[in-house]
Amino acid sequence: MKAAVFKGPGVITLDEREEPRIEDNEILIQVRAAAICGTDLKIFRGGHYRVGQGDVRVLGHELAGDIAEVGANVPYWKVGQRVCMVPNIGCGHCDMCRRGLNNMCPDYDAFGISIDGGFQQFMVATPAAIYGGNLFEIPDSLDYETASLVEPLACCFNAWKDADVTPEDRVLVLGTGPIAALFLMLSRAYGVRQAIVVGRRATRLREIAAHGATDTVDSSQVDVVDEVMRLTAGRGVDVALTCAPAPELQVQAMAVLARYGRASFFSGLNKGTKVEIDTNKIHYSGLRLMGSTGASIQDYARSMQLVESGQINVKEVLTDRFGMNDAVAAFKHALSGNGLKTLILPQAETV
Ligand SMILES: [Zn+2]
Ligand SMILES: [Zn+2]
Repeated sequence: MKAAVFKGPGVITLDEREEPRIEDNEILIQVRAAAICGTDLKIFRGGHYRVGQGDVRVLGHELAGDIAEVGANVPYWKVGQRVCMVPNIGCGHCDMCRRGLNNMCPDYDAFGISIDGGFQQFMVATPAAIYGGNLFEIPDSLDYETASLVEPLACCFNAWKDADVTPEDRVLVLGTGPIAALFLMLSRAYGVRQAIVVGRRATRLREIAAHGATDTVDSSQVDVVDEVMRLTAGRGVDVALTCAPAPELQVQAMAVLARYGRASFFSGLNKGTKVEIDTNKIHYSGLRLMGSTGASIQDYARSMQLVESGQINVKEVLTDRFGMNDAVAAFKHALSGNGLKTLILPQAETV
């Protein structure tokens, strides 16, 4: 079989590998669709603390496929079932896992990070993933491409639910990538009063606005804080979500929060980056600043429901598809920042 293998910062090669063999408590999955995430690009550029020096890894944690083989001891799951999965697997016994926060487990494993993921034709679902509830059967109404994109929506939903968004809220989305698009789609699905998106490229801003923005702010042309205050008649926004790894977005998010506003720092910053905060504003305005990373199994289940019920069409963010032979080119394309989501179809040689 073919696998796109990460071999250290800047190096991914398309390799011929033995099809994995499963143990009695494992499942073999034939991967049908695997989307490239910002995290994959971050690992490609600079590695990851869970990928050791000299280790090789198949990346890809936003995926969907079919069950090709089921270990002798595995109950319930059958060959031919269509599946997708929550990539972060908790240890099952820490304080976070006991609260259902598998994504916050300090001792986690994750497909495509600490164990091989979806940018290959076949992959192994480990016992901890199977018995931990990470596998989901794909509803009949959803195709593999859609199912693979439930994962990034689940990560957005994690931040979204913590921000307690209501239809009265004015929401600000800072950034114009796929995550920003998913937050706009959540804003539309929840019927928020106003959804403002901020970006620095006019064409990109126009494209992204189609996913549910009521207003756009071109940060290359206007002062973001002034413009957001103008667009909200001086009130500011109730919820601000930062979707790019730029410290100034966090500063802008905090500056435009209305009373009782909530800011969620979805995108991490480069290690060591510090941002000043006005704690008096937090105090007197009753603000909440929060962060989120990954998604719990519950976040994923709820996101799956938003997709299955038709509230959110995650495929709106899918702009580019590549076959397995072009997996390395897919990475290069995703790195270029053109388009939103790039998908690899491991069973297709080329598309
Ligand atoms: Zn991801
Ligand atoms: Zn744990």
